[in-house]
Parts: sequence; C-alpha cells; structure tokens
Amino acid sequence: MTRGRNYQTEAIVLKYRPIGESDRLITFFSSTLGRITGIARGVRRPGSRLGGSLEPLNIVQVSLARGRLFETVSETSVIKDFDGIKSDLNKVALALYVAELTDSFADDWSSNQKLYDLVGRTLADFNKNEYPLYLIHFFELKLLKFVGYDPEFWECVECREKLLPDKYPFAPDMGGVLCSKCQLNFDYFPLHISLGAMKILRYLQRQKDNESISSGVTLPQLDLKEVSEILRNYLRFVAERQLKSTAFLDLVTEMPFGDTSKFT
Ligand SMILES: [Zn+2]
Repeated sequence: MTRGRNYQTEAIVLKYRPIGESDRLITFFSSTLGRITGIARGVRRPGSRLGGSLEPLNIVQVSLARGRLFETVSETSVIKDFDGIKSDLNKVALALYVAELTDSFADDWSSNQKLYDLVGRTLADFNKNEYPLYLIHFFELKLLKFVGYDPEFWECVECREKLLPDKYPFAPDMGGVLCSKCQLNFDYFPLHISLGAMKILRYLQRQKDNESISSGVTLPQLDLKEVSEILRNYLRFVAERQLKSTAFLDLVTEMPFGDTSKFT
C-alpha cells in the first residue's frame, strides 16, 4: 500500500519513548504498512487527547501525516486494549516480549499480514483467563517462519536426509539440525536438542499457521525449558542482538506462582 500525505491504518502499538519536553516517539506495527515510527506531540501533557490510546500492546486505528524523518500522529482510537493482559504482570512480560520480537523482526514500510495476524492472535490468546506458556514458543517459531528463518527440525540441513525423532546438534548458522554422519565434519555445536525437546519443536512447528494453538495439551516442563533455550539462542543469532525483554521475561517466569499448572 502506498501512503498519501494523510492516511489511516490499523496498527499495534509496540513501544514508545519520550522525546522533547512533552512528546513521544511511538513504534507501530501496521497491518498494511509494516513498522512505522511516528511522533505523538504533546502526549505527555495532562489531558492530551492522544494520551491513553497509545499504550504499548493496544490495537488502534491511527491517523498519520507523512513526515521527513518520522510520521506525525494526528488521531487515534482504540480497537482492542487487552485488559486481561494488563492486569497480570506475567502476561504483561510475555506480551512485551511478543512486541519486542515483532519490533526486532518486522520491516519498516513492508506489510507482513501473516505476522500481523499472528501478533494479534497471540495477544488475544494471552488476554484470556487460561493460556499455555508454550504459546510463546509457538509464536517464536511462526514468527521465524514469517520472516524467512524457519528452523529445520525434520531433515539434515547438510545432506537433506529425513531424520527420525532423536537427539541432534542444532547449527544456528545453518538454520537447523545435522544427521550423525554430517555432524562429524564439524568440531563444535553450541546447541544440542534432546529427543523430548525435538518432539515439542516438531509438534509446535506442525500446528497450523493461522489458528490459535490448542491449550489443552500438557508438555513436560524440563523439555519446555530446553525448547525455550534453543529458540532464544536461535532468535538471538538471527536478530544479532540481545533482546532486551528476555531478561525481564526470565525474571517473572521464575517467580513463585501459586498455580503452576497453567505454565505447562
Ligand atoms: Zn546429513
């Protein structure tokens, strides 16, 4: 979609930071235009009409005016504010991690409708009372696929031999696992996937791209921890930088919660 001097788009608010005396620089992820950065002028003054609608994780209808460096935000209305997320610290951490990953991988001025739908669906799932923590790994895998870095867990990335579920080394720079013969050609692998983690990765990767994942499955906690480490490492490799909210996420997910059943 090309944009005129003034235009409207539906977008998810990914983050903001203060700029100048009373303004904020807002990063949006638009359904039709990809990542957009816009200035919301006067938004930090009391009574600003833009104020509350531009909170991170909101889905908004936003009116923007084209600018040289950044767009100018002229009007917004909230479509969804995900109340169920914002009242729960653990959900906030997960949702901000989703926003951070999206910010890291989405391109400016380039629509990625599949990724947009995935982010919206993931936030809607977190907004519900019950949600499985493996939803975040489903999100990570589908995001990697939609930005062109789908990891290979089904065949050797070197010789393309189909692999039975087993333990294999994972080479981030090659984007997948290697068979027992091919791995002899390499000295060192930073990551190894156990049989249990491999089954979960394949299970999550096999789920449909455009539907919410079923929340009724129980997956082994120890294997999920490994899946988390593998995906986090691979995402780091792909993003080539540390993801700021990862430390925050690790912190809150290790906090003692009364009912841990929803985390499996
Ligand atoms: Zn091989």
